Amino acid sequence: MFLRTSINVVTLQVMEQHRENKLHIGFFGRCNTGKSTIINNLIGQDISIVSSQRGTTTDIVKKTMELYGVGATVLIDTAGIDDDSSLGEKRIEKTMEVFSLIDLCVIVTCDNVFSKYEKNLAAQCERFSLPYIVVHNKEDENPANKEMLSLKNIITVSSKDASSKQRLTEFIFQNISSKLQETKSILDGIVGKNDIVLLVTPIDSSAPKGRMILPQVKMIREVLDENAINIVVKETELEHTLSLLGENKPKLVITDSQAFAYVSKVVPEEINLTSFSILLAKEKGDFDKYLIGTPMLDKLEDGDKILMLESCTHQPTCEDIGRVKLPKLIRKYTGKDVVCKAVAGLTNMEDKPEDYKLVIQCGGCVATSQQLHNRLHPFVEKGIPVTNYGLAIAYMNGIFHRATKIFSK
Ligand code: SF4
Repeated sequence: MFLRTSINVVTLQVMEQHRENKLHIGFFGRCNTGKSTIINNLIGQDISIVSSQRGTTTDIVKKTMELYGVGATVLIDTAGIDDDSSLGEKRIEKTMEVFSLIDLCVIVTCDNVFSKYEKNLAAQCERFSLPYIVVHNKEDENPANKEMLSLKNIITVSSKDASSKQRLTEFIFQNISSKLQETKSILDGIVGKNDIVLLVTPIDSSAPKGRMILPQVKMIREVLDENAINIVVKETELEHTLSLLGENKPKLVITDSQAFAYVSKVVPEEINLTSFSILLAKEKGDFDKYLIGTPMLDKLEDGDKILMLESCTHQPTCEDIGRVKLPKLIRKYTGKDVVCKAVAGLTNMEDKPEDYKLVIQCGGCVATSQQLHNRLHPFVEKGIPVTNYGLAIAYMNGIFHRATKIFSK
């Protein structure tokens, strides 16, 4: 039992490390409703074990596919939510952890069953503002009745019906397309053709050897998409670069939040300044909630607990922002002996939201906006203030207004 649980945890961690911002679709339902068959049909290959024996899908199975109209998408097959075997409870727990990773929930059922388990899944989706569809499977054996067809977002399919795959793909696309629209350029309306964008990327011991981190790479691409000009420097070359540019001032400086204090002094006030983390927060975080939650930093007391949420698992270093630098800065800024806990990944947490006075989310570069929303929802629901690394650092450096003013235009 321990071994299986460990494998499940590792499976989830590996899933998280390889999310790469792809949309995730989770297939949920009772044992033997045909979830795995539906996934195999969509993908066109057998990645999920299919059997008429109850509880065949014991571990979480995932597969990336190019879904028509959507692009690279991860399909996740889960164990039956009514698994009553000895390991069932653990499997159901892991199945529900997947819930926090997904952008669309597919509730699979058959034989006109839509009761306790299905209703619970639908209620969870409503709670997280997560889109969901209901798939009535095995339509050839027992067609959906009037009551079933009256459900919201329902489609009927059958492995014997050749049109099912195409219809289901189109139905998924319709229900996930609102998420795709969110992927428009972050810099749209902020910079334009031939504008110079200066990116400041410190290279310290937490920087990976020989490459840039994802938020930096993503922003370089965003600048190119706006037909603007990228200049990338370390903070040590910033002053010299600005003097070389002279009158050709950058339209925008984007810095790593950790260098905010220095960069904000070097970059003249009239040049727009923000951070990678703040841009990511604006693109896919609950930005308005972050703006409201950030001033909580002024109300912290000794012993208050702060949760640092990292969306990816990585090996912490002595210069890690969420585990070392930010806690140190908060203690210095507040003068209070606060307790900071960092948690990596996107799966559910065991801690009670009420245990924390403030939650600080990383940029979430590998997560989708739904995944970030799912992760923060339990805290928001309980009225716990939430913010983001970049916004918290800007606030504590007295440049909160400056770092966010590009969004108020
Ligand atoms: S911003 Fe978050 S998800 Fe991206 S690399 Fe940093 S810790 Fe990982």
